[in-house]
Amino acid sequence: MSTLRLEIVTPERKVYEEDVNMVVVKGVAGELGILPNHIPLVTPLKIAPVKAKKDGKDEYIAVHGGFMEVRKDKVVILAEAAELGQDIDVIRAREAKERAERRLADRASELDIRRAELALQRATSRLTVAGE
Ligand code: ATP
Repeated sequence: MSTLRLEIVTPERKVYEEDVNMVVVKGVAGELGILPNHIPLVTPLKIAPVKAKKDGKDEYIAVHGGFMEVRKDKVVILAEAAELGQDIDVIRAREAKERAERRLADRASELDIRRAELALQRATSRLTVAGE
């Protein structure tokens, strides 16, 4: 089966680099499945798990926004933060989720609500990728 190289990079480190059969992401305009030889593409991503299909198995990476660039046989995702399931601190994510939910319930300023919504999306994606 043909492959493409998937790289997920943050300002701090390379989180993932593998040859995979397919990449599924949530772009701002909807879900996108990328196979080898896809046409070149650049899109912003939503805060959501990225799925890498590899040898019949699905791997999930929590990717917190950023951009995806697709070239012939390479997908590069640049994000402010991203984690593999094994690196996710579940307790920290649960606490972040509760904090965000409390802030949303308090209905503070517009800015605080937007920040809490984004924090809630990050925490929810982390818990999903960690298998919670
Ligand atoms: P928190 O409120 O717990 O800090 P956050 O969503 O505000 O969560 P980020 O700003 O997205 O955190 O991330 C800051 C750094 O901490 C990044 O390097 C990110 O990978 C890491 N990080 C955040 N939450 C977790 C977690 N639950 N498990 C592992 N790493 C995490």
